[in-house]
Amino acid sequence: MQKSPHAAVQGLLIYASTSAMLGLIFGQMSWGLVVGLSIWCVQQIRLTTKLKTWLQNPDTAPPEAPGHWGEIFDDLARLQKRHQLKTQQLKEIIVRFQQSSSALADAFVIIDQHSNLEWWNLSADRLLGLKASADRGKPVINLLRDPRFIRYFRKGHYEDPLQLPSPVLNDVVLQYQITEFGFGDRLLVARDVTQLVRLEHTRQDFVANASHELRTPLTVIRGYLETFIDQELPTPLMRAMTQMQVQASRMESLVTDLLLLSRLEASQHIADENPIRIQEMLHNIQQDGIALSDDKGHEISVSVDAEFDLLGQPQELHSVFSNLLFNAVRYSPAKSKIDIRWWIDQNGGHVCVKDNGLGIESIHLSRLTERFYRVEEGRSSSTGGTGLGLAIVKHALHRHGAKLTIESQPGKGSVFSCHFPLDMLVKINETES
Ligand code: ADP
Repeated sequence: MQKSPHAAVQGLLIYASTSAMLGLIFGQMSWGLVVGLSIWCVQQIRLTTKLKTWLQNPDTAPPEAPGHWGEIFDDLARLQKRHQLKTQQLKEIIVRFQQSSSALADAFVIIDQHSNLEWWNLSADRLLGLKASADRGKPVINLLRDPRFIRYFRKGHYEDPLQLPSPVLNDVVLQYQITEFGFGDRLLVARDVTQLVRLEHTRQDFVANASHELRTPLTVIRGYLETFIDQELPTPLMRAMTQMQVQASRMESLVTDLLLLSRLEASQHIADENPIRIQEMLHNIQQDGIALSDDKGHEISVSVDAEFDLLGQPQELHSVFSNLLFNAVRYSPAKSKIDIRWWIDQNGGHVCVKDNGLGIESIHLSRLTERFYRVEEGRSSSTGGTGLGLAIVKHALHRHGAKLTIESQPGKGSVFSCHFPLDMLVKINETES
C-alpha cells in the first residue's frame, strides 16, 4: 500500500491535539501539550537509536516499530535485500571473469593512471613474473625493466606492438601491445610469439642461404657469358648471349638485394651508430643518380640544412637514399627535375626525394614497401628494378627508428620522405671533432 508522505506530520498533529485535549480536561491545556510533545520527542529519539543500532548490524532482522517508523524499517529492509542480491550477482560475475581470464594463454595486465599495476591474470605471473602478493600497486616499469619496454611505455603511442624476450622465461619471445581506456588507464597484453619468431627466422635463413648459394653459380655463368660475348659470334647467337647477360645481371642484383634485405631483417636495431656527413653522402648519391640518368639528363639538385648531421649505419642509409633517388630517376621522364632535401624541425631530421615523374595511384601507396609489389609489372621490369628497393628502404629506416612517408599524384610526381627522430641528430661541429 502506498503511504502518504505526510503520515509523520499527521501523526504528530494527532498526538499534539490528543495531549492538548487531555490537558484541557484537567484545565491545563499548555501543560498537557508540553508533556505530550516531550513524550513524543523521547519516543522519536528511542526509535532513531534503534535505527542506528540496526544500520550498524544490518544482517539482523529489522526492529519492530509503530506507525511510519515501522514502514521506514520495512522499506530499508527491502532495499538492503535488493542490494545484497546485486552484490552477490556482481561477485559471481567477477569470479567468472577471473576464471575465464586465468584460462587465457595471453598475459593481461591493468595499469592505472599513475602507471601502477592494478590487476593481472595468471598468465601474467607465468610470462612476466608478476607476484600477486608483492607487486600490486607497484610501478610497472619497476617490474618490466627492459629499457626498450620503458621507452615504449613512456612514448604513449601504442599503434605498433613491441617484441621482446620474456623477463623470466628463457627462449620465450613476447609481443607487447598496450590499449588505453577510461581516464588514463591502460591494458597491457603480452602474447607468446616464440613459434612465430622461430618460423620467421627459418624463412629468413632460407632466403639468406638460398641467395648466398645462388651467388657463386651466377658469377660463373656471367664470367663465361662475358668471355663468349668478347668472341666473334654469329649475330643471332650474339643477340642471345647479350640477352642472357642482361638477365644474369638482373638475377645478380636480385640476389644482392635479397641478401641485404635478410641482413636487415635479422635484427630490429642497428648495432652501432656513427656520425654520417649527410651533405657529403647526398652529393655522392647525386653523382650516382646523374650517372644512372645518363643521356636522359635529369636535373638533380641537393639542398642541405648545414647545421646537423645524422647518426646511423652509413651503408644502410646510403642504400636507402640511393634507392629513393634511383627510383625517382627510373620513374621520371628525361630532363625532369628531381630534388633531394635534408632539413631539421622540432620533430627531427628529414630527407626527402621529390620527382616530377609518373606518380602513383593512392590505392598502391600502402603496399609499395611490400617485397616484389609493383604498381605495373611492365613499368618496373623495363627499368631494371628488383622489386625490393622500397622494402629495403623500409627495413633500414625501421632499424634507425625512422619512418618512410610517401605522397604521390599520378601524372604529377612523388615525394618519398624519411623522418629521423631527434635523438639521431648530431650538431655538425660534434661530427667534425
Ligand atoms: P622496383 O625495383 O620495382 O623499383 P621498388 O620497391 O623500388 O621496386 O618500388 C616498388 C614500386 O613502386 C615500383 O615498381 C614502382 O612501380 C613504384 N615506384 C617506386 N618509386 C617510384 C617513383 N619515384 N615514382 C613512381 N613510382 C615509383
